[in-house]
Amino acid sequence: MTRVAIVTGGSRGIGKAISLALKEQGATVAANFAGNAAKAAEFTAETGIPTYQWDVGDHEACIAGCAKVAADLGPIDIVVNNAGITRDGVLHRMTFDDWNEVMRINLGGCFNMAKATFPGMRERGWGRIVNIGSINGQAGQYGQVNYAAAKSGIHGFTKALAQEGAKFGVTVNAIAPGYIDTEMVAAVPAPVLEKIVAKIPVGRLGHAEEIARAVAFFTSEDGGFATGSTMSVNGGQHMY
Ligand code: NDP
Repeated sequence: MTRVAIVTGGSRGIGKAISLALKEQGATVAANFAGNAAKAAEFTAETGIPTYQWDVGDHEACIAGCAKVAADLGPIDIVVNNAGITRDGVLHRMTFDDWNEVMRINLGGCFNMAKATFPGMRERGWGRIVNIGSINGQAGQYGQVNYAAAKSGIHGFTKALAQEGAKFGVTVNAIAPGYIDTEMVAAVPAPVLEKIVAKIPVGRLGHAEEIARAVAFFTSEDGGFATGSTMSVNGGQHMY
């Protein structure tokens, strides 16, 4: 059976690797993006995967965007909440807007996407939701009270929704990536990045494909016994 999947922030970085992994797994994939239309067009030309623009932090836009994907491709079986931003700064310099925007997109986006798709999965008796958290939501990180709180919230959201979905065939899991070599990490100043890599037992940054393979396990047909879990994929940087 061909499943229909949406990957938020699915046209670049980790999301691009996830979109490709799900396509390879046999799903019909739609990649959402926020505003980088040039990158999205390049992605579609390269992969053949269609892209859909909306802001995952906007509740109504998520409802409308998911309805459009379903009308084009069929009922949505798989959602990967990958879209995320950073607005780093120490608390005494962080603005309310920095806080709110990260919570709105990184955590609110998961709620909005679930509201748009979970009821249908529940009715049809099959669904897969994978939320991309972060090592920094597990361990905290200097200068990231907003991001760490939102990502930590994702882990709680995952466990709560997994309980609601379990008897309806809907699994909800999270991946907590460590530091992955994407544009988000390229924005970290080089001296800071060197210190980070020195703390990773495997001695390198991760690759987006390594996160995508973990997502593909959770979304697979035979992944149905895994729910409410958080898989850490971090090179051994944080173990618990
Ligand atoms: P990138 O910054 O490379 O890409 C972010 C993606 O999210 C883009 O596709 C962007 O769309 C999309 N996006 C941002 N805001 C919105 C929005 N409001 N609505 C819809 N889409 C949006 O990030 P990464 O690939 O590095 O990270 C992907 C996820 O993994 C994030 O949730 C991040 O927090 C998490 N993560 C990343 C780690 C890393 O080391 N890179 C480590 C741990 C977690 P557009 O292309 O239009 O801008």
